[in-house]
Amino acid sequence: MKINEIYYSIQGESSYAGLPCVFVRLTYCNLRCAYCDTAYAFYEGKDMSVDEVLAAVRGYDCPLVEVTGGEPLLQKEVFPLMDRLVGSGCTVLLETGGSLDVAQVHPQVIKIVDLKCPSSGECQHNLYSNLDKLQPYDEIKFVIGTREDYLWSKATMEKYRLSDRFPVLFSTVFDKLEPRQLVEWVLQDRLKVRFQLQMHKYIWEPASRGV
Ligand code: SF4
Repeated sequence: MKINEIYYSIQGESSYAGLPCVFVRLTYCNLRCAYCDTAYAFYEGKDMSVDEVLAAVRGYDCPLVEVTGGEPLLQKEVFPLMDRLVGSGCTVLLETGGSLDVAQVHPQVIKIVDLKCPSSGECQHNLYSNLDKLQPYDEIKFVIGTREDYLWSKATMEKYRLSDRFPVLFSTVFDKLEPRQLVEWVLQDRLKVRFQLQMHKYIWEPASRGV
């Protein structure tokens, strides 16, 4: 499979934010979100076998591993990779853009699934049938860049009863919407969501890679 990078850092998002984590970033993405901060993963990467990836992950001696992209579900080898990571005792997070079916993902993998908002330009690719294939410990993420995105996210949460079913994460598009503004909207509307900042962008330079 084509791997863009493997590195060790702090998990910056989700309910696991703040924990040391190994990141396995797979190359390629089928979407082109307007705010994408990992466009370098669209094509760059080197071929590695599942065994080579597992050996690289083991080298960090860290029980938390995130499989991300790009869009990691585009490459079929990702499924045996996740199976073997789970089998070796790791807690495995999967970050997916939410346009591809998650049915084949190992049930113990914690899936963090985006629902793309209108300002991403990719909202039409959200695969809502995935919502019925998730477990209560999987997480739904909205990355919000405008008031329209916020209202759309709120309506989508209500339509699918998301906050009764899963942890729901609300993030801002970095440098586009003030975190304080989003927090004020959430509090005004009493939304049952977890607000999050992309922690790594405050610890390191926002455009840094490998952190
Ligand atoms: S899904 Fe992720 S990697 Fe793909 S374009 Fe959108 S933000 Fe970038």
